[in-house]
Amino acid sequence: MKMSQEEKLKRSYIVVRCPSEECEAETIVFAHAKNTVVCKECGEVIAKPLGGKADIIGEVLRFAGQPVETEE
Ligand SMILES: [Zn+2]
Repeated sequence: MKMSQEEKLKRSYIVVRCPSEECEAETIVFAHAKNTVVCKECGEVIAKPLGGKADIIGEVLRFAGQPVETEE
């Protein structure tokens, strides 16, 4: 079954918990991030670009409900 464009968009954003045990801040990451994404709180790397799809280093908590603005 093909996903609708809207469904794809919804799943493109995921909420990731910072891998640092002392931080655990939640950051919304674009699943196909082309740049390394770092935690806003502590600067820990939470996602790295990996051939079109981001390699998520932190814990994936859930899909973000809807696209949101992310800081590049
Ligand atoms: Zn952090």
